Amino acid sequence: MTQANALFKIQELDLALLKRASSLAAMPQQARLKTISLAAKKVSSELKGIVGQRKDAETEIADVEAALAHYQEKTTEVRAAAEGGEHTHREVRSLEQQLTSLAKHIEKAEYSLPPLREKLERLRLAERNARHMQQRIEEERTATETSLKDESASLRSEIVELTRERERVAAQLESGLLERYEAARKRFKGLAVERLVGNVPSVCRVKLQPSLFHDLAQGEEITECPYCHRILVTSEEE
Ligand SMILES: [Zn+2]
Repeated sequence: MTQANALFKIQELDLALLKRASSLAAMPQQARLKTISLAAKKVSSELKGIVGQRKDAETEIADVEAALAHYQEKTTEVRAAAEGGEHTHREVRSLEQQLTSLAKHIEKAEYSLPPLREKLERLRLAERNARHMQQRIEEERTATETSLKDESASLRSEIVELTRERERVAAQLESGLLERYEAARKRFKGLAVERLVGNVPSVCRVKLQPSLFHDLAQGEEITECPYCHRILVTSEEE
């Protein structure tokens, strides 16, 4: 293969690879996977918030229950003290005051528990729902990935084949020319090489001035287009 032909061949392979890469990116499963990913992130952040609130509610209930147990124990102690032995009038009044105060604390604690427990139940339910949702999202992610894998199989095998052929062609290009091609390919987004057809370069299609055409025709077979600066092959197509 001549260097000029290798240049056109590698360009053809690169354009074919670009086309397949964009077909792969345009598959509906790719967009679906992005949506799934966003949904997963959202649910995960919601779940984190719910778990935090649920733990707080559990702590709050445990604290109130501990306080309640303490007041009840204290009440038993004070009652035992009141029943045991003789007491002065002043002592009796003090014990009664303690019992009254403890009863108020107990009432307050008992009153606050039901709404706290209801709140905890609501949070547990929300947590279950969020975990369920998370599981469904992951199932959908797996199904979408499988469908993408199945439906893109032929596209991916073509990419593998084209890449191998590209490596073979690249190996035939002189290293300086390959470097020039790679730079031009990036700069011109794929269309890096053009051929002189008559006195018109095939890509930019700017007609060459007669003197310029004369110089180029007499010069190197592989040169640079004076207008668009792509790699210009001046020989005719075989
Ligand atoms: Zn040009």
